[in-house]
Amino acid sequence: MAKRAVNFGAGPSALPDSVLQEATQGLLDFQGTGIGIAEISHRSKEFTAFVANLESLIRTQLDVPPTHQILFTQGGGTGQFSAVVLNMLARHRLLHPNLTDDERVMDYIITGSWSKKAAAEARRLGGGKVNVAAQSTHSIPSHESFKFSPDPALIYYCENETVDGVQFSHDPSSPASFPFHLLPQDTLLPIVADYSSSFMSRKIPRLADHAVIFAGAQKNIGPAGLTIVIVRQDCLVDVDAAAKLGAVPVPISMSFQTLADSDSLYNTPSTLPIYIAGLVLERSRELGGVQYFEELNRKKADKVYSVLKEGEQKGVFRGKVKEGHGSWMNITFDVLGDGAEAKFLTGAEAKGMKALKGHRSVGGIRASLYNAITEEQTDGLVTYMREFIAANT
Ligand code: PMP
Repeated sequence: MAKRAVNFGAGPSALPDSVLQEATQGLLDFQGTGIGIAEISHRSKEFTAFVANLESLIRTQLDVPPTHQILFTQGGGTGQFSAVVLNMLARHRLLHPNLTDDERVMDYIITGSWSKKAAAEARRLGGGKVNVAAQSTHSIPSHESFKFSPDPALIYYCENETVDGVQFSHDPSSPASFPFHLLPQDTLLPIVADYSSSFMSRKIPRLADHAVIFAGAQKNIGPAGLTIVIVRQDCLVDVDAAAKLGAVPVPISMSFQTLADSDSLYNTPSTLPIYIAGLVLERSRELGGVQYFEELNRKKADKVYSVLKEGEQKGVFRGKVKEGHGSWMNITFDVLGDGAEAKFLTGAEAKGMKALKGHRSVGGIRASLYNAITEEQTDGLVTYMREFIAANT
């Protein structure tokens, strides 16, 4: 095999070599059936057992309680921007049939470009009104600035902003944590979280208090084409009954209840991405699960933030995010000086480190350190950054 680059891309992103090698076997012969994974029926007993095992790998590693169902679907994070609005508005309609659209409020926390896009989709779909409950750029909003509505249809946040590099802290005592303590404690809260770029990278704080958690697979756990949705049972609602009361109709493939009732096999699922995600999470289980990755990812991020700070002190780099609010998964910074960014990227490529260019909308550098990036590969980046600082001061 040709030497593989170290891929610091933000998604689709690096997958473990061992998994990719195993998957090439599965492409030819899935579990001794003599039929490849891209060819076998999604209703075969081998495949349905594989899906059930994938469900259990996620449930066990994240401690998903029996109050919540795990669904597999398609359409990516963007599909869920629509699906969460439609399902949660339907739920709210069944609970409060007589409210006007203006009285049916959806609270959005805007911390970067993905939550902004999600709020724009909610506005586009109609059927309720978007309230920006808190907003900030390059940081998590201060707890005091949150203004939650009294009985919203949903409360939405993006746990990790992949483009901007801002992430909620998983430490409840951090000022960058999600302010669960400001919400009522005694109700089934309609909290919706986009975990697309941090899913399975560490434990999910207050998972049981969420109505919906969703993630596209293409960062930490597999190829694009699989979307994972963790839904609390009370959010699996009869969307047609809600539509009869005036709610926005929900496409059948987006109805959480339909997906749940069919064990995520209402229509043909993304069999190959499901297969690879299963292999990735089996490997993750063998290594010690999400806890293992939490420790590893903390170490990796600490190392990069630390050299970034050295570079800031020397005037070579400038971090884009407030200290303590930065993502463990996507570290964003600028290289200061004319032509310096291009020089940094060219030098990295020469060392086999690719896809470090920031998102086209914001520029700069973005190093994505998803689960498949090893500590050794991270050390390679850190060494290169240190050499770059030395050569430019
Ligand atoms: N949310 C976040 C946090 C993301 O990083 C992305 C994709 N990078 C999306 C949503 C959109 O996901 P998709 O491209 O799968 O629709």
